[in-house]
Amino acid sequence: MDYIPYNIVLCRYGELALKGKNRKRFENQLKDNMRHKLAGLDIKVYSDRGRMYIRSKDREPFTPEQVDGISVRLKKVFGLVSFSFGLHSEPTMEAIEATIREHFPSFLKKYEGQTDIPYRMKARRGDKRFPLISRDIEIHFAEVLLSEYPQLKLDLSNPELLVSLEVRTEHAIICLDRIQSYGGLPSGSSSRALVLLSGGIDSPVAAWQMMSRGTRLDFLTFHSYPYTPIELLPKVAELTRVLNKYQIPGKLYACNLAEAQKVIRDTCEEKYRTILYRRLMFRISERLALMKDLEALVTGESLGQVASQTMRNLHAINRSTDMLVLRPLLGMDKDFAVKIARDIETFEISNIECADSCTVFMPDSPITNSPLHFIEREEEKLDNDALIDMCFQTVSQVDLATGDETLITEIEEPEKKTK
Ligand code: ATP
Ligand code: MG
Repeated sequence: MDYIPYNIVLCRYGELALKGKNRKRFENQLKDNMRHKLAGLDIKVYSDRGRMYIRSKDREPFTPEQVDGISVRLKKVFGLVSFSFGLHSEPTMEAIEATIREHFPSFLKKYEGQTDIPYRMKARRGDKRFPLISRDIEIHFAEVLLSEYPQLKLDLSNPELLVSLEVRTEHAIICLDRIQSYGGLPSGSSSRALVLLSGGIDSPVAAWQMMSRGTRLDFLTFHSYPYTPIELLPKVAELTRVLNKYQIPGKLYACNLAEAQKVIRDTCEEKYRTILYRRLMFRISERLALMKDLEALVTGESLGQVASQTMRNLHAINRSTDMLVLRPLLGMDKDFAVKIARDIETFEISNIECADSCTVFMPDSPITNSPLHFIEREEEKLDNDALIDMCFQTVSQVDLATGDETLITEIEEPEKKTK
């Protein structure tokens, strides 16, 4: 990118502006999240009537490191729709024109040698006392610039060089490019939840979808060490680190299912194993969620994708908990989930081959269509509370930097008894 001495970033947030009475709360949350995300870059974040701004603390142009840091990190802040680097000016025609004239040669650098460069300006006048209306500002600059730079061609519908000008009472901002972010709601603006995070493709995408609605997440993964490889935890820790870039960071917990899986293997009919494992996973997740004050569970289940995700099986799994279970991928095609996974940079990690708990003692042909009462009858052969207790003893918190575990020693009794 050719060097343009940008000294302000204008950030737009669409959906938030519609939130009526909650608006202030959402804006404050967004501002906090932006500050947190941009910490260490020596910048200042502030808001003013429906916009968020970033400037360097000394009001000097951003350094290339600041430009890179802001570009990369801001894209991951939910709640922002788009942002643009800009040049700050006093809100008078003379000052705006002087700024544009000074920097226009830099704006044109990337079109060197080109003729008929499609140009337009889009002006927005926030302060109605400004002497010219938006259209007249646009016409003025078209006249000035087209006469000075014959390589420009006015193109109102499809401009390549689009100069945006925003005039407000206290400043004017001149921007070129608009960087799209994901929109949604700021992290922490709705309730907290626990994601059942496997090493697969879907659950990280499900987590990301829920984060985009402002839900703050903690993560729980099930492994079956020594039947699953030791590499599984560092892999899930890496997924969590990537996902945490999109939210106020959450914790990763791990639970070892191996002993309980052996009991199920030795006690119950083989074809029910997968469903029984999953009902157990849900009950353990519910207990952890209640203990940590998290209000819902999130999974990457998608209707019809695998044997455990037929409608009947989903129902059977669902009946193991009273908690709200959010399944944002339920109606999503795998291709689309993969597209998101690539975009949010979890795909490569998920794709690393690594067996997880579901594959341990897998039945040759898992049941896909069993009525609930058959499953419940099979489960009656087990002492469920004892199994949950046994697994819960293994719940640990995972160090996200290393993938090492620390047992959670102070396991309190949840307020609500698991089923
Ligand atoms: P994923 O790609 O997320 O693993 P999947 O398509 O492979 O999903 P399943 O293996 O049936 O489907 O898992 C469905 C959901 O159950 C997962 O998306 C995840 O939320 C949860 N889940 C499965 N295995 C585990 C595990 N080992 N630890 C935590 N959650 C799990
Ligand atoms: Mg899986």
